[in-house]
Amino acid sequence: MKVIVVGSSHGGYETVRGILAAQPDTEIQWYEQGDFLSFLSCGMQLYLEGKVKDVNNVSYATPTDMRAQGVHVYLNSEISQVQPDQHQVHVIDHATGQERDESYDKLVLSVGAVPAVLPVPGHDLKNIYAMRGRDWAIKLKAKTVDPTVKNVVVIGSGYIGIEAAEVFAKAGMHVTIIDLLPRLLSLYLDQEFTDVLTKTMVDHGIYPAVGQSIQSFEGQDGHVTKVVTDQAEYAADLVVTAAGIRPATGFLKGVVDLDAHGLIKINEHLQTSQADVYAVGDATLVPFAPTGKLNRIALATNARRQGRIAAKNLLGTPIAMPAVSGSSALSVFDYHFASTGVKEGTSAKLGVDCASVLVTDTIRPKFVTTENGNAKVWFKLTYDPTDGRVLGAQIMSTADVTANINAISLAVQLKASVYDLAYADFFFQPGFDRPWNIINVAAQKAVQHLN
Ligand code: FAD
Repeated sequence: MKVIVVGSSHGGYETVRGILAAQPDTEIQWYEQGDFLSFLSCGMQLYLEGKVKDVNNVSYATPTDMRAQGVHVYLNSEISQVQPDQHQVHVIDHATGQERDESYDKLVLSVGAVPAVLPVPGHDLKNIYAMRGRDWAIKLKAKTVDPTVKNVVVIGSGYIGIEAAEVFAKAGMHVTIIDLLPRLLSLYLDQEFTDVLTKTMVDHGIYPAVGQSIQSFEGQDGHVTKVVTDQAEYAADLVVTAAGIRPATGFLKGVVDLDAHGLIKINEHLQTSQADVYAVGDATLVPFAPTGKLNRIALATNARRQGRIAAKNLLGTPIAMPAVSGSSALSVFDYHFASTGVKEGTSAKLGVDCASVLVTDTIRPKFVTTENGNAKVWFKLTYDPTDGRVLGAQIMSTADVTANINAISLAVQLKASVYDLAYADFFFQPGFDRPWNIINVAAQKAVQHLN
């Protein structure tokens, strides 16, 4: 069997790995339009802050390794057309200028997304950058040490915008984050958490300009100098846009069914509307466990699961994509947080009725006073007020307690309730934890509210 995989990021990589693991003798052609295989934007902040020295190390796969495993890797090679009736794709090799058609038995599209461009005057000025992919990583890295950059404006306060803001604040620049929404990180955390994080960002030289919409970019000699919102103007030597993504599916219009946003429609087996054509990753929707509905959750974790599941399906083992909880984690200076599922702040948009309990405590018993051994922790558990079903949770501390969220993610996926969690068996050892894990404590409190 000959499989063509398009795109070498998380979804494409896992598809190839999945095929190699199950049927290593499959003929795999792996296409990437860029000049680098499998760059991971997830590692961009580590590179920009100098924790990873070489941009080329921010990857899981090298062409040499993959070729050694029998995979035919094609870089600088764009798939510009898919002809499902002929079971073939059109390839443009941008290195040589040559074009050709390639046939497939099965095709997997992991074409992902590109940063959305804000449709306002001045959007094409120089020094307006995005934060996604290796090319932008290299350009942004140069700006972190550019003495002419004093004022940085970041647009969008999701986790990508926050990562960008932190990078440039740590590099000594004055940073403003503009967001249309009234709180930073408001799609990830509720106010009890974002109040603390916003204060910490202000303390580190990041100014939050929330509840504002971008009207235009202004510039001089073709370079951006100012960002104008409906409420104020902000000096900018560099703008980093992190206000959403657009699926890279233009070439698929009229070929496979797309939704109104250009996302590829897939079924639970990740099949598109065309036979033998599968799609995974940020260009698709995933089933969201708390609601059971399809949702747009652009995370590497989802792309990777889909890649493995697409591999199984195309090799003849039917398996459905499991519903996901949408879990993510991030550090903001000294704080580490993670969240999963529904938050009070996102529940209305999701059409979910919810209740929550917030527990603040120390992570260990009071008698544990070792240096940095007993930090404060915030934990919020969100559940269905009618039957106690767990819908989501958020956690934050200066200690790294983020892994607790994986337990809640599983609870959401398995449709567990706060009754299940109230007396669930979580370990105790005073060097790590309290006699009752904070998940138990929150669930017990929720049970009291329900009874
Ligand atoms: P993409 O990563 O968008 O990659 C698509 C690839 O396909 C690209 O390399 C592109 O060049 C190629 N391509 C597209 N069209 C064609 C074509 N026609 N022909 C050939 N090649 C093509 N997620 C997490 O879970 N955890 C994190 O910590 C995290 N951090 C992130 C940090 C940043 C700064 C960013 C930007 C994203 C982060 N994400 C994180 C999200 C994660 O990176 C994405 O969800 C993931 O990359 C999606 O993978 P994908 O395979 O769908 O596509």
